[in-house]
Amino acid sequence: MPGPADTSAIPVDDARIAEVLGRWWGFDRLRPLQSEAIRAALDGRDSLVVMPTGGGKSLCYQLPPLVGGTTDVVVSPLVALMKDQVDALEAIGYPAAALHSGLSQEERARTRDQLAAGELRLLFVAPERLVNSGLLDLLARVGVKRFAIDEAHCISHWGHDFRPEYRQLAMLRDRFPAATLHAFTATATPRVRDDIARQLSLRDPAQLIGTFDRPNLVYRVVARTDRVAQTLEILGRHRGEASIVYCISRKETERIAARLASAGLLARPYHAGLDPAERRRTQDAFAKETIDVVVATVAFGMGIDRSDVRLVLHTALPKSLEAYQQETGRAGRDGLTAECVLLYSSADVFSWEALVRKSADESDLEAAEREKLVASGVEHLHAMRRYAQAARCRHAALSEYFGQPYEAEACGACDVCLGETAGLPDATVTAQKIISCVARVEERFGVRHVCEVLRGANTEGVRRHGHERLSTFGLLAELDQRMAENLVHQLLDQDLLARSGGDRPVLTLNQRSWEVLRGTRQVVLVEPRAGKARTTKADADDWQDVDRDLFERLRKWRRRVAEARGKPAWTIFDDTSLRAIAREKPDCPAALLRCRGVGEKRLADFGAAILDLVAGRDPG
Ligand code: ADP
Ligand code: ZN
Repeated sequence: MPGPADTSAIPVDDARIAEVLGRWWGFDRLRPLQSEAIRAALDGRDSLVVMPTGGGKSLCYQLPPLVGGTTDVVVSPLVALMKDQVDALEAIGYPAAALHSGLSQEERARTRDQLAAGELRLLFVAPERLVNSGLLDLLARVGVKRFAIDEAHCISHWGHDFRPEYRQLAMLRDRFPAATLHAFTATATPRVRDDIARQLSLRDPAQLIGTFDRPNLVYRVVARTDRVAQTLEILGRHRGEASIVYCISRKETERIAARLASAGLLARPYHAGLDPAERRRTQDAFAKETIDVVVATVAFGMGIDRSDVRLVLHTALPKSLEAYQQETGRAGRDGLTAECVLLYSSADVFSWEALVRKSADESDLEAAEREKLVASGVEHLHAMRRYAQAARCRHAALSEYFGQPYEAEACGACDVCLGETAGLPDATVTAQKIISCVARVEERFGVRHVCEVLRGANTEGVRRHGHERLSTFGLLAELDQRMAENLVHQLLDQDLLARSGGDRPVLTLNQRSWEVLRGTRQVVLVEPRAGKARTTKADADDWQDVDRDLFERLRKWRRRVAEARGKPAWTIFDDTSLRAIAREKPDCPAALLRCRGVGEKRLADFGAAILDLVAGRDPG
């Protein structure tokens, strides 16, 4: 039974592919572009495959070598990603290995031996290792005919994650003229796509561009008022489930993780400043389901991987929609409903802008190049901000940003379409109060001070300037400071107030502010608090007929197996498969084999234990 995400999947018309897919993976369908990508590989044609995270790219390069008995090479940027894939492949008995810096001499030698003996179907390797060693000679001797380049956008500086070491992959074409190259990425812009094809000298590649919408993700944008309180509230909807919380700084990840832990959640911080062993421990604990929540920096989310992530929460603004799509892409990779919440404050836009300028200034690029970098950074930021501010369907906004029209009227899976976003009553009057206060302090003060005056706060700064005597003092006394600042930022977002640049930005009025004051322009503000999240239809469908008790027992069993084997739990079985089992309640091996995700290897390894669990016996 296919999972809900695979409704568009199609039966396989090629018997060889169908056989391999069923026997090894326990899948009976391919997603539309998968079959074309696999066909291109088997036909010996270069390809460029663009699919969103979770779209199913890996199967496209994992399956072909099993059909032809070849050894293929996968270039991947991160050790953690390679290890996860090798673990997942091991669980289905697939002969794969990775060569990376984390291996001992002996492990490396063993992998090379296996490679030379033709025992491996896939070898994962980082780009710098591929080009800088005698490995190329070995690969040539083994007769490698196919290279898959994962995260291929890293080769382009138009992408959002340029890695200079990817540039060296250009030599593959010359060095292996008979081999085919297959580029995979989740970054869709045509400029990046063309750049990938050019840099790798792809020959008339099959261009397979997937659908960017992720129907199983529920998107919400919530005005940020109190990071910790809002984070706790939202995590409350996901007790015992895998969640990733993104923060803007290392310090922030530690602060928030500590607060979550003291609230009784199994949470840990994760950022580039931690030592690798510590990071590895957190990664492992998350993979083995001994912790539920990882609090990570946006700059360093890769490597924390689990297919059953049910919540991705951004407590700060990502710097581009590309980054947002990639980070939220880590939610619901199993195709089941998952939630993506962005806590938004336009204050983040200003911090990012300053950061973009600073890092350009500090780079040793030419002035013109620096300007380009800043312009591109600012452009990306503004797209992100427009997404957060707009009161329109999030699925539609994301799809269109990635160049794909969105057909449905209402997605049924975002805060806007679910009717959760509430307007603030009397928004125009509130805006007038704020704007007149900015005028009263003579456009010489920043957000904090203006809000203190509006709230009638008795602070040193207010007294020093005699602002308690202003007519606008205390006009919004009912608000707390966070709410007030949030409303000011909403006005800034809508260009109804302006803010000067520089180190100590001050609020100023513009043409539109005057229109609001004169009453010729109406204002819409949203209530700055988390709306009540509704249950979506898709989520209900995902649970249809699932015996929840059995599902929880299966999860517990999975955790034990993962612990005993030292492997990520989702590589043992993913949630979609466990729900299928808890729905079908198979009573014999043949029935179990019909459940999604159960192939021959898993049946042999776990069949007896699962049938015991289903029958209510202790699997021992
Ligand atoms: P990507 O690499 O594009 O981010 P993955 O390759 O990790 O995505 O696939 C995402 C999920 O979809 C995995 O859990 C995988 O098992 C599942 N999947 C991929 N192809 C199929 C298929 N044809 N049928 C069922 N599940 C699939
Ligand atoms: Zn919508």
